Amino acid sequence: MFGILRAIRRRKYRRLEFPSQWYAILEEKVPFYQAYSDEQRERFCTLVKIFVWEKHFIGAQGMEITDEVKVVIAASACRLILNLGIKYYNRLTEIVVYPYVYTHPDQEGVIYGEAHAWGTVVLSWPAVMHGIQNPYDGEATGAHEFAHVLDRADGVFDGTPLLRTGAAYGPWVRVMSRHFLALQKRNKKQRKVLRMYGATNEAEFFAVATESYFEKPEKMKRLTPELYQVMLRFYGPDLGSSSQDNPDSDQEEG
Ligand SMILES: [Zn+2]
Repeated sequence: MFGILRAIRRRKYRRLEFPSQWYAILEEKVPFYQAYSDEQRERFCTLVKIFVWEKHFIGAQGMEITDEVKVVIAASACRLILNLGIKYYNRLTEIVVYPYVYTHPDQEGVIYGEAHAWGTVVLSWPAVMHGIQNPYDGEATGAHEFAHVLDRADGVFDGTPLLRTGAAYGPWVRVMSRHFLALQKRNKKQRKVLRMYGATNEAEFFAVATESYFEKPEKMKRLTPELYQVMLRFYGPDLGSSSQDNPDSDQEEG
């Protein structure tokens, strides 16, 4: 039932024009948008507008939710699903944004963002901004947290999202575990590609590998080619022509 309503709503959103002032936000604040081809920009903007209109943005601790906040956060979320489709975020309903680096009341230390179990993502606005404006340092809070959302989309938080085909699980598990264990052993190649935080557990490994795939694809391709391949098979190509080395570039509806 909800699925039908959502499909109707999304159809309506697809028809509505992309707000012109949002283009300026993307041009100014989202460096990877500038590198997209025209065809990618078009697909990307469709995802961004559905995301902004469909999800609830909640400002915590006096955080003001402006168009800039919504569009930049939607951009960092939609970068991940450019070739996957908006359905990967079906379970995500709200995004809580803090005006500073967020500290969890129950935990020691500082958390830059946190993907909660059901439908909520908690983000620090300065951390998201820092991540998006330094596109090649391998650290991207937005990409990291939204990778956790993709991971949970299949109902399990284990470092394996819903893959495109059943046949993809074998190679995925094999390659991801091999590199996860290598990072835990502080292997040189893996450390050059991945932040050590990825050695925490499989879920963090997937989120950290996602950051590297989008921020240091060349390095990942050169030093850990198998890992690059499984990420490419899941996410599809980030830049360049949409179908070139995309194993299945079929467009998702709904
Ligand atoms: Zn994480």
